[in-house]
Amino acid sequence: MRPVEKWEPADHPDIKAIYPRYQEAKPDLCRNLGTMCSYCEKAYADERDLQVEHIQPKKYKDANGNYIYASLETAWSNFLLSCSTCNGRDNKDTKNVEYGKCHLPHINNTFLSLCYKAGGVVEVNPALTGRSAANARTLLELVGLDKSPSSSCSGDKRWQIRSTSWDMAVRYLNMYKAHNVQLETIVDLVQARGCWSIWFTVFKGHDEVRQALIQAFPGTAISCFDSQDHYEPIHRNPQNDDDPV
Ligand SMILES: [Zn+2]
Repeated sequence: MRPVEKWEPADHPDIKAIYPRYQEAKPDLCRNLGTMCSYCEKAYADERDLQVEHIQPKKYKDANGNYIYASLETAWSNFLLSCSTCNGRDNKDTKNVEYGKCHLPHINNTFLSLCYKAGGVVEVNPALTGRSAANARTLLELVGLDKSPSSSCSGDKRWQIRSTSWDMAVRYLNMYKAHNVQLETIVDLVQARGCWSIWFTVFKGHDEVRQALIQAFPGTAISCFDSQDHYEPIHRNPQNDDDPV
C-alpha cells in the first residue's frame, strides 16, 4: 500500500484543520493525495467516485454506546480517500481503529506492511514479526483487502483489478526492458488505472521507473524509500522499537 505524506494544516495553506462539512475536504484530499483510493489504490478520473474516508470511524460506538470519534468527523487529521468498496466492506464502521495498533498509510511505511503477488494476491509481508506483523494484519482486515475470488462478495472486484494489473505490469516490464515502451507511457497507465504498489513491486531494479512513480503521484511519502538503494522501502518509525514500520 502506497505510504502517503501526513500533511499538517499548520504547514499547508490550502488545507483546513476543521472543515464545515467533511465532504468539503474532498478536493483538498484529491489534490494532496491524488485521485486514488488510499487502501486498494484504484485510480479514478472523477473525484465523485471517491469518498472522504474517516480513519477513526465517525459511527464507531464504544461498549457504552458513545460515538467516541464524533468530534473527528470534520477534522483533516482523520481523513484519507477511499473507494466505496474499501469504505463499505466488512462493517468497517463498527471496527475501532487505534493508532499504534493498525498500520496506516499516513503513519507507517505501508509499502513494507503488505506484499503483492501474481493472481491478485495481497498478504502481510512475511518478513514482519511481532507488533509490526500484527498491525499490518489489522490493516489488511480493516478493509478486507485480501478477499480472494472464493471469499469475495460478488461486487468486490479488487482482487481481479490487482490480478489484471499485475499481468499488465509484467507485460510492460518486458516491453520496457526491450525498449519498446516509454517511461511516460507506464506512468500514464498507472495514473489511469492505479495499483501503484503492484507496479512499484514489479519494476524493482528499475530505479528511474520507481522514481517516476513516486514523483507522479501527489502525496507519496518519499522518505519511505531509499534513493541510494534502488528506492527500496525503509522504516518510517525507526525510533519505535516495537513497530519501526
Ligand atoms: Zn479502495
